[in-house]
Amino acid sequence: MTGTTLQPDRLTLSYAVPQLVGGEELPVGPTFTAVDPSTGRGWAEVAAGTAADADLAVDAAARAFASWRHTSLDTRQALLWEVAERLSASAEWWPRLLATENGRAIREAGLIDVPTAAEIFRYFSGIVRDLHGRTLPCGPGAHVATSPRPLGVVAALVPWNSPLISVAHKLAPALAAGNTVVVKPSELASVATVEFVRLVQDLFPPGVVNVVTGLGPEVGRALVSNPRVAKISFTGGTRTGRSILGDAAAGLTPALMELGGKGSMVVCADADLDTVTEDVLTGIFAANGEVCFAASRVLAHREIHDALLDRVCERAERIVVGDALDPATQLGPLVSRTHRDQVAHRVAAAVGEGAEVRAGGGVPELPAELAGGSYFRPTVLSSADGATSASAEEFFGPVLTVEVWDGEDEVVERVNRVDYGLANGVWSSELGQGLRIADRLDSGMVWVNTWFATPLGQPQGGVKASGFGREGAAETLLEYTSTKVVHASLDRARPPMWV
Ligand code: NAD
Repeated sequence: MTGTTLQPDRLTLSYAVPQLVGGEELPVGPTFTAVDPSTGRGWAEVAAGTAADADLAVDAAARAFASWRHTSLDTRQALLWEVAERLSASAEWWPRLLATENGRAIREAGLIDVPTAAEIFRYFSGIVRDLHGRTLPCGPGAHVATSPRPLGVVAALVPWNSPLISVAHKLAPALAAGNTVVVKPSELASVATVEFVRLVQDLFPPGVVNVVTGLGPEVGRALVSNPRVAKISFTGGTRTGRSILGDAAAGLTPALMELGGKGSMVVCADADLDTVTEDVLTGIFAANGEVCFAASRVLAHREIHDALLDRVCERAERIVVGDALDPATQLGPLVSRTHRDQVAHRVAAAVGEGAEVRAGGGVPELPAELAGGSYFRPTVLSSADGATSASAEEFFGPVLTVEVWDGEDEVVERVNRVDYGLANGVWSSELGQGLRIADRLDSGMVWVNTWFATPLGQPQGGVKASGFGREGAAETLLEYTSTKVVHASLDRARPPMWV
């Protein structure tokens, strides 16, 4: 492992970040401090919203829905496209903010987050023109037609790991379908979301897009419990998802749940090791391993297990760890000290259960100026039989577990044994084998000979403890509409039932 040094041009906001409701900034009362995970120092003050603020935002969104629901598809198309244009036009501005906020290495924030968020808006701008109902052939005496109706106010709750992308995945389809939205970002990454809404909100009538900030159990909970919320769209941890569904039950509020993951890579004996090695490194160390789709578990066939483990460990040790704002950094700090300590604790627990640290395994030695940061070394654990908690639990950090397998039935059973079912993958030079194993893995997504490939139009989402609902695809529009049918009789003749 090598390190980088503290960058001098750090971001510090001179204003308190407000909540945006009904096209206005709410007056800022109490605030909480946003901490730069590269240094451990505060860099912004953010409005600590309350349950009353969440209610205000839902009121504003409900008022705006009355007319926004009737906007034409071409209007929505043009507005969503303009959102993407504004994002792209300000692309150079975002990476520093994103890297400061959650520790994402600045080279990735520029390369991935901003273009992906813009692309999500362009995708839904394109497909919204195809939002239509059907007529049903029910005979010459009837005219039967369905139409997709917007639901109303959507409460969009997002995590801290990729705020721009997560917000885009919720806002674009919800708005395209004619809903209004209240966004609640994570308390660990609120600024990017507020600044994004500030950038685009004048495109929309007041109240169509709102953002409230503050603690999840207070503001988030008030939002999902509000009886005027018509749909909850949540991305976050499985435990939080369960709690939200409990609150949603009282109002019978439907929900889309994008939850945690424990991605497994199944590597067959005939796989191309050069490609696999690159995919393993990307799968677990991109975005600091703080990705729901992360490949945190590799199951390598016995014939290539040792060679692959050696290659991955050698490369992991060379990863450049340091200040997220340094363009040379390949792995930034984890989002907070608390989260870093949880990752360290999970590694220690797995080692106590029999896993062996083969690379990394702890806090790196970095220059004194980065001592306040929440860094963790790229870590590879070996756990041949997959019997430790490192093979089952989501760490949400740069920690990979490598296991060994012999038979196809065995490896399929071991992958499917975990509670999660978000993303898995198979590497084989024989496509038939790859597809056969892919078909047997229980997850919403399976990649064959690649990882992280998520072109727009390809549904994203999980099964089991990874949640339900799909984002990023045409079917996502259905998540934000309900089907209404109108059946008109063209005939006055009635069956002779009452004579
Ligand atoms: P989290 O569950 O702690 O928080 C997510 C959001 O929910 C935040 O905005 C938070 O303030 C809010 N919240 C917390 N408690 C709440 C409550 N009781 N009621 C309402 N809202 C509440 O998740 P996190 O730590 O921010 O993010 C990490 C998790 O997100 C990981 O488990 C990761 O796998 C998951 N994730 C999933 C996907 C996916 O697409 N499946 C994508 C990204 C992240």
